[in-house]
Amino acid sequence: MSNINVTRSSMPPFEEYCEEIKELWDSRWLTNNGIKHREFEEKLENILGVPNVTLYTNGHLALENALSVFSFPKGSEVITTPFTFASTTHAISRSGLTPVFCDVNEDDFTINPEKIEALITDKTVAVMPVHVYGTICDVEKIQKIADKYGLKVIYDAAHAFYETKCGKSVAAFGDFSMFSFHATKVFHTIEGGALCYSDDSFEEKLYMMKNFGYKNNCSQLCGGNAKMNEFQAAMGICNLRHIEEEIAKRKNVAGRYRERLGNIPEIQLTPIQEGVVSNYAYFPMVTKGYKYSRDEIAHRLGEQGILARKYFAPATNSFEYYKDLPTSEQNGATPISKILCENVLCLPIYADLSLSDVDRICDIILS
Ligand SMILES: *Cc1c(COP(=O)(O)O)cnc(C)c1O
Repeated sequence: MSNINVTRSSMPPFEEYCEEIKELWDSRWLTNNGIKHREFEEKLENILGVPNVTLYTNGHLALENALSVFSFPKGSEVITTPFTFASTTHAISRSGLTPVFCDVNEDDFTINPEKIEALITDKTVAVMPVHVYGTICDVEKIQKIADKYGLKVIYDAAHAFYETKCGKSVAAFGDFSMFSFHATKVFHTIEGGALCYSDDSFEEKLYMMKNFGYKNNCSQLCGGNAKMNEFQAAMGICNLRHIEEEIAKRKNVAGRYRERLGNIPEIQLTPIQEGVVSNYAYFPMVTKGYKYSRDEIAHRLGEQGILARKYFAPATNSFEYYKDLPTSEQNGATPISKILCENVLCLPIYADLSLSDVDRICDIILS
């Protein structure tokens, strides 16, 4: 039996991609806001229902650029959660800002809004919540707190592409939403990312920040290089044509997992959120006193050539680099995140994972 990875990149038909990039051979315009870039950006604005989309070479630099727009004073504090990928926390830190770690909800793993206010100081400038595994944060409560204290809200929506809540695009919440289009995500451009926002005044500065600060042939800001190239945009255009089908297939896989694992009290799954159209990006399970530990399950699956990932582990506030912060895990600041990191396992999920393979995985977990 063949090995099963935790994910498998979706690919458009080979001919479709070749057709899409043909023009690039003729035009020799390979990057810097070319025809594919502009087409892809416009398509995303329409599909996501947001006035502005700015494309990036990856999601991480998109996050850094979102933070740079506000020119926060160095040392300002950004409230975020440690139950995320390194990128979220490092984007804050690399921008000269201080991450302040807020714990997550036990039931849905997103930032606990009840715990945000106690962390606000006179240095707090923003909140960076994560729609982790595609589970949408309590956006209303977060916005209320942000409005009360005059904070910006930048969503790490890397996992939440194409989702809606009560008919509203996930891209429309907060000041910014960042999507990652990395090869391992539900929707990808090989590497890539995007910022979505409604304030038109951000657009020019973002374009300058991702292209060495240039405007009118003159570098006016200390920008870096974070541009998406034409080949990435072409991959995006192709994958976008198949997104509905991709998500429908994932839904089938997730449905089978839920059938098999959903009624075991010692295994916690992510909640099904009312009014949310999910993208089925991940399938995490959390062991809660189950007969096998997370590590035992991962090991048993591994023996059968099945790679499940301990994602996320460890919490970012247990990284050596952050250990001296008052809200580090070492200081006991985020106990729920710590327990989650020790017990969560992401099971394989991708569009063409067969239901018989899902059954095989479940049999190993349950046997
Ligand atoms: C993938 C990911 C990112 C970074 O995206 P890249 O496109 O790989 O740079 C940021 N945050 C989270 C939660 C992610 O999963």
